[in-house]
Amino acid sequence: MRAVTYVKNNTVEVLEKPVPEIAADEVLLKVGGAGVCHSDITIIGFGDDNPLVGGTLGHEVAGTVERLGADVAGWSVGDRAIVALVLSCGQCRECLAGRDNQCEVVAPRGSLAPLSPGIGSPGGMADYIAVKSRHLDPIGALDPVDAAPLADAALTPMHAINTVRDRLSADATIVTIGLGGLGHMALQILAATTGARIIALDTDPAKLAFAEAHGADLAIPSDGEAAARILAETGGIGADVVFDFVGVQPTVDLAIAVVRGGGAIRFVGLGGGEFSYTAGAGSGLPWGVNIERAYGGTRSDMRQAVALAEAGKIAVEVVRYSLDDAVQAFDDLHHGRIAGRAVLVP
Ligand SMILES: [Zn+2]
Ligand SMILES: [Zn+2]
Repeated sequence: MRAVTYVKNNTVEVLEKPVPEIAADEVLLKVGGAGVCHSDITIIGFGDDNPLVGGTLGHEVAGTVERLGADVAGWSVGDRAIVALVLSCGQCRECLAGRDNQCEVVAPRGSLAPLSPGIGSPGGMADYIAVKSRHLDPIGALDPVDAAPLADAALTPMHAINTVRDRLSADATIVTIGLGGLGHMALQILAATTGARIIALDTDPAKLAFAEAHGADLAIPSDGEAAARILAETGGIGADVVFDFVGVQPTVDLAIAVVRGGGAIRFVGLGGGEFSYTAGAGSGLPWGVNIERAYGGTRSDMRQAVALAEAGKIAVEVVRYSLDDAVQAFDDLHHGRIAGRAVLVP
């Protein structure tokens, strides 16, 4: 079968690999679609001799059940399914508490990321993937091409939003920065599940137009004027919650500058921005601010994202590529030429 493989630093190739054998608790999934994420660009930049070299990429995966292991129950050949982002153990303290995105077995302290398809386990940018049946969720009648990006591009914002759900009252103001793969889903989830006022920011005018058409109350350029504009819009108080799906220095600075006292920031984008904290009365951070470095999402978050998609309340802007054109898709994403999410279709 074909498999998009991290062959050396900043290089992927579509290689021929054997169709995986399945264990008794696994399902062979015929891949219907595999999303291409900025994280994939990051991963292939880890060098020439990283342990991930030689691995098949792809952590946003959906498809159709092709074959069942001997012990698998509850699934039938032909069922459509999405693969969990975090291949959690299901048994540790965090998993049992419903925090499976923080599974202490597959995401030990100091690990770069939890074990996921395409990150330490063979990924879904291939014709087939072997998956433990307990790592699958049903997607009903959704097309796997449309569903695949939900595994990260909708799951991760869903999780970040759920961590501040109690703050998203109808009289709250939300600032969401970045309208790319994750950000364009965050906006739709916020619009579908809250009554709060949504201010969306991006540097791309086309993405601001998308935001205005998909539930943003205000869509403004993410530039040097943005902080003053948001403060003016909130009577000088600032935003209840700021989501940063970019994480570069200007967006991190913006988040700190506009969060209100007692508000919350969720840093999701991995753009390398930094902020400093001074433990003193003159700190630039307002009193009471809650900050979380949100990662991925739980299986419950996944179910919620799929439910919204099945109900037609959120939809990924899919840009289709043949699996054979994976190198082009990576290049287009790297150069900012994708509006929405690139999905490889075997
Ligand atoms: Zn990702
Ligand atoms: Zn666990």
